[in-house]
Amino acid sequence: MTGRLLSGINPALAFGLVVLVVWPMAFDTPYGLRLFALAGIYAIFVMGYQFVFGHAGALSLCHGTFFGLGAYFTGILGAKFGWGFPATFAASALAPVVLAAIVAAPVLRLESHYFALATLGIAQVMLLVAIKWEAVTGGANGIAGVPPIVLFGMTLARGWPTVLIVWGLVAALGLAARAVLGGLYGHALHVMRENPTAAMSLGLDVARLRFETFLLSALYAGLAGALYVHTIRVISPEALEFHAMVACLTMTVVGGRTRLAGAILGAVLLIHLPEWFRFLEHYYLIAYGLVLLATIIVAPNGLLGLVEDARRRLAPEAPPPAPFAMPLPAAARPTVPTGAILSLDGVGKRFGGLQALDAVSFDVRPGEILGLIGPNGSGKTTLVNCITGIYTPDGGGIRIAGTDVGGMPAHEIARLGVARTFQNLNLVDEMSALDNVAIARGAARHLALGTQTGATAMALARAEAMGLLEAVGAAEVAMRPCGGLAYGTKRRIEIARALALQPTLLLLDEPAAGLNESEQADLAQRLKALAGSGLTLVVIEHNMPFLLPLATRLVCLDHGQKIAEGSPRDVARNAKVVEAYLGPQEAAEVVA
Ligand code: ADP
Ligand code: MG
Repeated sequence: MTGRLLSGINPALAFGLVVLVVWPMAFDTPYGLRLFALAGIYAIFVMGYQFVFGHAGALSLCHGTFFGLGAYFTGILGAKFGWGFPATFAASALAPVVLAAIVAAPVLRLESHYFALATLGIAQVMLLVAIKWEAVTGGANGIAGVPPIVLFGMTLARGWPTVLIVWGLVAALGLAARAVLGGLYGHALHVMRENPTAAMSLGLDVARLRFETFLLSALYAGLAGALYVHTIRVISPEALEFHAMVACLTMTVVGGRTRLAGAILGAVLLIHLPEWFRFLEHYYLIAYGLVLLATIIVAPNGLLGLVEDARRRLAPEAPPPAPFAMPLPAAARPTVPTGAILSLDGVGKRFGGLQALDAVSFDVRPGEILGLIGPNGSGKTTLVNCITGIYTPDGGGIRIAGTDVGGMPAHEIARLGVARTFQNLNLVDEMSALDNVAIARGAARHLALGTQTGATAMALARAEAMGLLEAVGAAEVAMRPCGGLAYGTKRRIEIARALALQPTLLLLDEPAAGLNESEQADLAQRLKALAGSGLTLVVIEHNMPFLLPLATRLVCLDHGQKIAEGSPRDVARNAKVVEAYLGPQEAAEVVA
């Protein structure tokens, strides 16, 4: 038992904790303790930045503004209005969150570099407000005489009391962040960051995830700002200037973007680095810059990334969880009443001058396997992207089990029971096969902040994911990162991931591409079994020997138009299909 307990402790983490305790004792001077308190404050600031920059992958440049806003609220309310610590602390937490919520609508929809520029604009505006609005902010001089922290009638002295409060909050906020990010939620953010299209197709509300992480980042930054101003006792525009932002960004990159220990490591190192280089006098900035550069080159994932890599190399691969057999997808949903499960009515899509889809209409009935064929560039993948909401069609109607999905965002369509795989594979490479599938299980349960964060939810999702990987014959690679797996295996993992959504309609984009003959036969058998259980399938495929025995009906596209629809034999014999796609020789072979 003790052995198991001890083996559960991460030696690197234990070492880090010991250093954190010994450090302030070793540098037990007023200045040393003040620096250590500042390091803790920056650690909170960086933890907040990890939500938006590390986990959501968005380069926000107004994180320093949230910090400054927290500082100003505490400074003004405390020094000018005499508010007590609990009230100013709450105000400093709330104000940046409100600002984040207000600016989120216009900026969060922007693509990467535009988002960075927009957030930079926000930072500039807030800095100007702080400088110009003298009556309230004290202008360029700021406000002196910010009160210290007073708790339960006791004034918190500088030195050890401040260090203990600050680092107590580092621990509390770190544990809170861990609780939020530890389970499925953190993994969902990982999928979103690496592959937004896949995330949407799993039913993850990407816009909402971005919004939540942005607000969380503002909350942490505001709290850090409040502590900062209590420590330095004056508030001035410096708190809103760009170097606070740059310091935070640097600490995040050096420490590690997604690991809480990285936030602490980055903050402690970078707060102390200028001190260590002080003997260099004017040249210290050069040394500082060189050390940063070297770190980024040697450890692109931060110093904690190095530690993690080493640990992964040394540790044996974890054993996979015991599988939990889920009810077969379609059986878990109420059956579709009548008629078509998917109904396309004159669907069109243009890309510039190219009519990729031209008034495509056909129905897919419950339980059938519809084969979608056509030459390369005929619009098959585009059609799947329109059905799943990745593209918005320019015209026509798409109904899924009777629901009009025109203009519906992709994650809502996924939640209607539509799952898909991708022609060019959209797995998260550095994540294990098991976790790639487990996220989809979480997403199927409408994963949101506050739910699915605990270890139990993750454990259940993993057990279910294991059951699905067994069902597609990929159980033996469950614990391996997807990046290094064979093509055919990845295709099967994508199918398991799609099945994890318990869909009623499954769209497979060239599932047999890259599979050898025995793998193809195996896949065909599994797909037939799925259809037998009531799942409806649309299968895009070029491989006729694979598709013809499998499909119950075929639709053929050419130049974005439907040129044939009917039984596999009829379509394969259709003159237009032979001319546009199969060619006389293959047509003769497949019909024979
Ligand atoms: P298929 O899957 O049948 O091979 P696609 O649907 O991928 O064909 O492509 C149909 C046509 O639309 C092709 O000419 C392709 O170049 C074009 N196309 C597809 N997606 C886009 C896009 N996002 N932007 C511009 N053109 C596109
Ligand atoms: Mg395609």
